[in-house]
Amino acid sequence: MSDCVFCKIRDGLIPARLVMRDDRCIAFEDINPQAPVHLLFVPLQHIASNDAVTPEDRELVGHLVLAASRVAAERGIAHSGYRLVMNNGPDAGQAVFHLHLHLLGGKPLRKMG
Ligand code: 5GP
Ligand code: ZN
Repeated sequence: MSDCVFCKIRDGLIPARLVMRDDRCIAFEDINPQAPVHLLFVPLQHIASNDAVTPEDRELVGHLVLAASRVAAERGIAHSGYRLVMNNGPDAGQAVFHLHLHLLGGKPLRKMG
């Protein structure tokens, strides 16, 4: 997707503070962090949203979750706790239409709901 900001980060066309990269995903610091740790886990493959995930993407989504838990441990927040968030569509305020998992932690997070 030529106009996708996360595809551009993946391709090195927009700078980002990269945390990890493997054969399926990248993770980088959110540009507008909402917590001391705020990272985005992004599949290399362009998928617009959770709504566009297919059964073939099952392993890829699991891969994102496992990558996030591994980096959470590396950042020392596995035991203090963290939140994984995937916004989908307007009511969730999804702003970037390339699938991504937020990892938030490093402080007590506000209760949801
Ligand atoms: P969404 O609301 O779509 O789940 O969240 C998109 C996230 O991407 C936001 O938290 C926003 O701060 C982050 N973001 C948007 N553009 C950029 C960018 O160019 N670089 C980085 N590192 N993060 C971005
Ligand atoms: Zn994209």
